[in-house]
Amino acid sequence: MTTDHGGDVRLTGISKTYGSFTAVQPLDLTVPEGSFFALLGASGCGKTTTLRMIAGLEEPSSGTVMLGDQDVTALPPYKRPVNTVFQSYALFPHLDIFENVAFGLRRRGVKSVKKQVGEMLDLVQLGEQARKKPHQLSGGQQQRVAVARALINHPKVLLLDEPLGALDLKLRRQMQLELKRIQTEVGITFIHVTHDQEEAMTMADTVAVMNAGRVEQLGAPADLYENPASTFVANFLGTSNFIEAEVAGRSGDDLTLKAGGGKLVLPVSRCTASAATGEKVLVGIRPEKISLTHADDAGTIPDGRNRITGRVADSSFIGVSTQYVIESPLCDAFEVYAQNIERDSRLAPGAEVVLHWNPAHTFGLDAAQDIE
Ligand code: ATP
Repeated sequence: MTTDHGGDVRLTGISKTYGSFTAVQPLDLTVPEGSFFALLGASGCGKTTTLRMIAGLEEPSSGTVMLGDQDVTALPPYKRPVNTVFQSYALFPHLDIFENVAFGLRRRGVKSVKKQVGEMLDLVQLGEQARKKPHQLSGGQQQRVAVARALINHPKVLLLDEPLGALDLKLRRQMQLELKRIQTEVGITFIHVTHDQEEAMTMADTVAVMNAGRVEQLGAPADLYENPASTFVANFLGTSNFIEAEVAGRSGDDLTLKAGGGKLVLPVSRCTASAATGEKVLVGIRPEKISLTHADDAGTIPDGRNRITGRVADSSFIGVSTQYVIESPLCDAFEVYAQNIERDSRLAPGAEVVLHWNPAHTFGLDAAQDIE
């Protein structure tokens, strides 16, 4: 396998406009060499356009694309050390798997292809299928052939445009792990476009969450989940409850917030909004971080936890957890996923409850944004 992995991919001021419509706003982004990087966002946010500008399939309206020390902005796709795998596998139906993978080598006039193709088929675990035609393989196997066919050219960067989009859920999950394994083995940079947050979180070292042509936030999956910088990111990566609160003061490392008639605590370090007294803050809390206690047992809740009262509006058993919807004056409908607790038969619709959580599991956001 190649040892020169080409350096970082660096986009500087890269943008794309179509007439008066801006698909990608001027964007600066560095993809570290050897990383598995995901561009994540809803349909139309500009992720495919960004990928295509790296591939050379789309000409940027402004900015530069660097691969290591090389400025490739003006290079046509075939001169870039980059290969793309598309959702439609685009295999040659009349060629067998071996010849599909060998295609790039043969086109470059390489005479002896057997060893390289064999290694590549082993890498994607299709050594046994070499003489089959694409239509004799499953969707996941065909996608692996497409990956092998791209990797045999020893690209420095592999671009993947929704490569698992056509697969059913179970196969998608298998292929996510498979692609991660392949990337670890070959060690080159993978840039993966997806609208599926779970997919991005499973595979990528770093995720760029895109929204309306901009990168909204960039980070490691767990960091984005635990420290979303906006309601958009909080909602795109999972579910969050939000409480509108106001900064009442500060005590040591904690902010004291007024919310409804009650009081909440938020560590200063968990607040990305202005923490000045009187400022409005949106307090975010993930459903699985909240515990639920029947109001009769409120005395058993340890000190130091944020707590609010509410009433069970709905509950549904979903296997690993029970999902509750709680009505509270502070939040239209709190979602709580109670896991690993003995199910309390008293927590039926109508029950008075106390919701409580560790303040460190809360995040505070600028209130001047939509909650939805
Ligand atoms: P999807 O997941 O649906 O592919 P995406 O996030 O990858 O979405 P892009 O394909 O990058 O989005 O498109 C971004 C925006 O640019 C969309 O609103 C799209 O309609 C628009 N767009 C893309 N290509 C063109 C084009 N050739 N001419 C005009 N508008 C375009």
